[in-house]
Amino acid sequence: MDESSGRSALVVGAGIGGLTVAAALDRAGWRVTVLERAPQLGEVGAGISIWPRAWAILTELGVAEHLVDGVRPAIQAGLRRPDGRWLAKAGAATTARGPVMVHRARLHEALVGSLGEVEIRTGVTVDQVCDGGRGAVVETTAGDSLEADLVVAADGIRSSIRSGVRSRDDVRYAGYTAYRGVTAKPVPGEASTSGGETWGAGVRFGYAPLVDGRTYWFVSANRPAGERSDDHHRDVTALVGDWHEPIAQLIAATPADAVLRNDICDLRLPLGRFDHGRVALLGDAAHAMTPNLGQGACAAVEDAAALVARLVDEPEIGRALTAYDRERRPATQRLVRASRLVGTVGQIDNGAVLAARDAGITGVGAIAGLLGR
Ligand SMILES: Cc1cc2nc3c(=O)[nH]c(=O)nc-3n(C[C@H](O)[C@H](O)[C@H](O)COP(=O)(O)OP(=O)(O)OC[C@H]3O[C@@H](n4cnc5c(N)ncnc54)[C@H](O)[C@@H]3O)c2cc1C
Repeated sequence: MDESSGRSALVVGAGIGGLTVAAALDRAGWRVTVLERAPQLGEVGAGISIWPRAWAILTELGVAEHLVDGVRPAIQAGLRRPDGRWLAKAGAATTARGPVMVHRARLHEALVGSLGEVEIRTGVTVDQVCDGGRGAVVETTAGDSLEADLVVAADGIRSSIRSGVRSRDDVRYAGYTAYRGVTAKPVPGEASTSGGETWGAGVRFGYAPLVDGRTYWFVSANRPAGERSDDHHRDVTALVGDWHEPIAQLIAATPADAVLRNDICDLRLPLGRFDHGRVALLGDAAHAMTPNLGQGACAAVEDAAALVARLVDEPEIGRALTAYDRERRPATQRLVRASRLVGTVGQIDNGAVLAARDAGITGVGAIAGLLGR
């Protein structure tokens, strides 16, 4: 154990961000308790892209080795129109620089397996955090108070801890909803050797093979906030079922009750501070972004590594958290902004602007960052 030995941390939220920081703090010698409001640990969701920096952190924590069974396939990726014509080709994505695509539940499971001495309490909802003199005090909705040297708020986009330290409502609806699915088993042919996105008018489809051979896909569509529907599988078939192959094939290979739908939101800019005394905001609680770059969870993993590194460098917690804020807020704010921009361009539904967009992409072919998706 290093000089952190004996210090205590409460981590609020057992999502990817909370579990990663809990594992990293545990390795640095902290006594860590995770408080999660769900009655049991687990993650629904579909596929998730893990980019190289986050992958390196997960490797260091001993998590990555549980995620990949064999050699990652090189896939042909790019951006297409609904009729299948290429707007831009990315070539075969290399395995060294591209993202690793895994099922979210598998990442969550591997993180839980890496927790060492961490104590996890489920079914505990945190109401607020206040300064307790010697430490930070977490109050739960059941009326309990828990004190620790450090509190990490990893309680997601609708963080009650963030709401407690800021006066404004930070959450912004992006104007589109996302459907996600994973095929029940590997789909042979193009679906297992290709990936990328297809952009129509106000609707996008994207897919990528997961490391376990199944295929993850998503559809995003311009919709009013909060709209409900009772058959997501039917919705996506109506939206993109007549687009180029293998889209219909992938949707047909996905169980009807396994298609998720979420309205897409992010946090208003500029982002507020990530440090509040002995409380650090992390992951979506600090910088929820639209999923257009596939970077939200990766940024949470990077937050965790940065926070623990600053706490190791600087024994005074308030100063360590300020250094963490200085390092992570500008970097993640750039991601929120860039991701929002990609979504705005991708969701264009006005005919004339759409034609200009597609011509621009074909002509310039310079959105390489998108193509790995
Ligand atoms: C459609 C879609 C696709 C995405 N694709 C990708 C991708 O490919 N790659 C990528 O990197 N990111 C992706 N993301 C983003 C990613 O999902 C999030 O950034 C990431 O899950 C955030 O993790 P988190 O731990 O910060 O928050 P969350 O996953 O939201 O976890 C918060 C946890 O806190 C708990 N909690 C909340 N409030 C309380 C409370 N008051 N008390 C106790 N517990 C509480 C919740 O139950 C939850 O377990 C995607 C997001 C969406 C919507």
